Amino acid sequence: MVDRLKGKVAIVTGGTLGIGLSIVDLYLKEGAKVVFTGRRENVGKKAYQDLGSPKNAKFVVHDAADEEGWKKLFADTIAEFGKVDILVNNAGIGVPGNVENTDYAQWRQTMDVNLDGVYLGTHYGVINMKNPQSGDASIINMSSIEGLVGDPNLFAYNATKGALRIMSKSAAIYCANQDYNLRINTIHPGYIKTPLVDKIQGAEEMMSQRTKTPMGHVGVPDDIGWLAVYLGSEESKFATGAEFTVDGGYTAQ
Ligand code: NAP
Repeated sequence: MVDRLKGKVAIVTGGTLGIGLSIVDLYLKEGAKVVFTGRRENVGKKAYQDLGSPKNAKFVVHDAADEEGWKKLFADTIAEFGKVDILVNNAGIGVPGNVENTDYAQWRQTMDVNLDGVYLGTHYGVINMKNPQSGDASIINMSSIEGLVGDPNLFAYNATKGALRIMSKSAAIYCANQDYNLRINTIHPGYIKTPLVDKIQGAEEMMSQRTKTPMGHVGVPDDIGWLAVYLGSEESKFATGAEFTVDGGYTAQ
């Protein structure tokens, strides 16, 4: 359980809390150098301190929906660390609402971060990560069980997570056909105890019911973090265009 990512350079968006922070932590423990992002500087600085101020990690303020910021993020990471082998497009927001009460501003806000942000990351990721000098490269896009099944109260969120699932398959096939040595996969978490879920009153209790999650409890961030280690490492060298679900059985019924 050490050095599974030795020599790799990773970018993790939304790496300051929850699932993203767990991915940053495990990537560092497995030997990667990690640049992680978030919009709030104070939250990023605290995450960096909580990680033990590691010399192999760097926090960068960046909004995943900002195109110019993406160009700078790749240019600066490559200037400092020489390359990018792994990109985890993890940043995402959850704006609850159904088809009737989701207004256009909420729809656009969700699209900007959850879909445009992942489009921009995947687009600039392929341009900057294709044909790695050694090993292979990996883009991991964070979808959700909500990219597989509908929820009446997650109308816009469902739309973004479903769209990024199939968008990732298109990009994965393209890269495979081009022999770019760059794999692209999606992760579909079930309910995971993070600040995002904690903000929704009663969500943990409701999602822990066996009619929702057969295992009878929600997950924790490293349930997803370890999958991201596998997909970032060359243990997953034959996996591309695939969807990986970790949800305590939520979508099995
Ligand atoms: P979280 O606890 O709310 O953390 C979100 C992280 O993303 C924070 O670091 C946040 O920092 C950052 N972020 C938000 N908007 C951003 C933006 N525009 N640009 C850059 N960073 C941004 O969320 P989480 O529960 O860990 O979820 C992480 C991902 O997993 C999301 O894509 C979410 O949809 C997905 N997911 C979560 C669950 C779950 O049950 N928790 C289930 C399925 C899928 P700032 O706010 O400072 O930017």
